Amino acid sequence: MRFAKFALAGEARWGIVDGPELLVLRGHPLFASAEATGERVALKDVLLLPPTLPTTKIVCIGKNYADHAAEMGGELPPEPLIFLKPSTSLIGDGESIVFPEISERVDFEGELAIVIGEIAKNVSASDALSVVWGYTIANDVTARDIQEKDGQWTRAKGYDTFCPLGPWVETEFEIDGQILETRVDGDTKQHASIDLLIHKVPRIIEHVTQSMTLLPGDVILTGTPAGIGQMVSGDVVEITIEGIGTLTNTVA
Ligand code: MG
Repeated sequence: MRFAKFALAGEARWGIVDGPELLVLRGHPLFASAEATGERVALKDVLLLPPTLPTTKIVCIGKNYADHAAEMGGELPPEPLIFLKPSTSLIGDGESIVFPEISERVDFEGELAIVIGEIAKNVSASDALSVVWGYTIANDVTARDIQEKDGQWTRAKGYDTFCPLGPWVETEFEIDGQILETRVDGDTKQHASIDLLIHKVPRIIEHVTQSMTLLPGDVILTGTPAGIGQMVSGDVVEITIEGIGTLTNTVA
């Protein structure tokens, strides 16, 4: 099932995606009390919001595809390499990415994102999928020159608007055999099987929850494949994962 968060009459609401329409819910779909209001709205008429609860953290995995690690140089991390993006970097499908004036190179990184549905601490890989609410798509936007200058990644990946997320959460997504594709103004830049993740979703959740408690609404970005590149003002960036949908954002 696909759950979308959207703005309706100035309020954040949830709905079930049904073709071109949303079945509006009362409450949050993670809570048993959520029910359909009977109201339907057209997807094209609403502003989609990042499909999470209030998110306490966005945990990201670096260099988790071998061909991307190779294009960045350096060794493959022996265990999942973690960094964080602030929740204030989140924007929804259709919103604009805004560049900081001091950066001369801002890159896209198309990624599969995990949305957590339960409080999770010290979860074993074998139990990990039980704490996943669903999957969505993220762009781990990165000011590449600032990343190099700072030597660590917090500022370069943490600007407001640097985590487009959406368009919705797919709760029945199966990773096996799925392709991630990123297009900039229609040109394909990244095209890779998600099966090529070095550290798979269960191992990622096990590793992350060994160090920090994940809360419902927290998001994990699983890493980007090869083909990352620069965006410029006016670009339309589309990231598609078959079985989820397409996340589309424009560069302001
Ligand atoms: Mg990334």
